[in-house]
Amino acid sequence: MAQTVPNVKRSVPNILITGTPGVGKSTLCAQLAEVTGLQWLEISKIAKDYNCLEEFDEVYQCPYLDEDKLLDGLEEVMCKGGNIVDYHCNELFPERWFDVVFVLRADNTVLYDRLTARGYTGKKLEDNVQCEIFQTILEEARASYKPEIVHELYSRTPNELQDNINRICLWIQNWLQDNST
Ligand code: ADP
Repeated sequence: MAQTVPNVKRSVPNILITGTPGVGKSTLCAQLAEVTGLQWLEISKIAKDYNCLEEFDEVYQCPYLDEDKLLDGLEEVMCKGGNIVDYHCNELFPERWFDVVFVLRADNTVLYDRLTARGYTGKKLEDNVQCEIFQTILEEARASYKPEIVHELYSRTPNELQDNINRICLWIQNWLQDNST
């Protein structure tokens, strides 16, 4: 079972970057981590490192995730703050971990091309494009976190990527000002 830990005030915020695979999470997180010095936690990679992946789902061509083990492994670093968490799902995380949630979006045609270039085909490709059309990840975030901390950001072009980075940096500055004691 995941630990239950009381909410501790952080001096640096935790940011969740979520969205359908291919919307540009890794691209944004890599640049954001460089600009801000915050730690980029790429959950898909961390799950492998922590041995949280179980048997393979043949239909979706991906392994099952042991969520409790993953969350227990991340608890300490999340309590310290200063993390940019990058994952395509968001409902599994404790709400108290995050000060803000950014849901990246892309048009379905843009996403189709990106995922095809990544080698996605068949059901995996269709399901991910449908996930974006039905804004499943945005709805999941709105249901899992306070709506006022959930922000939708389109990341279709390099200009939008830069705008998003600027906007998140501004959000961080404001948060640090508001939370300095
Ligand atoms: P995710 O981490 O959400 O799966 P990636 O960051 O790997 O997505 O991006 C998928 C592809 O889209 C990559 O080839 C990346 O270079 C491209 N990409 C990401 N964001 C943008 C953007 N804002 N404009 C143009 N191309 C982008």
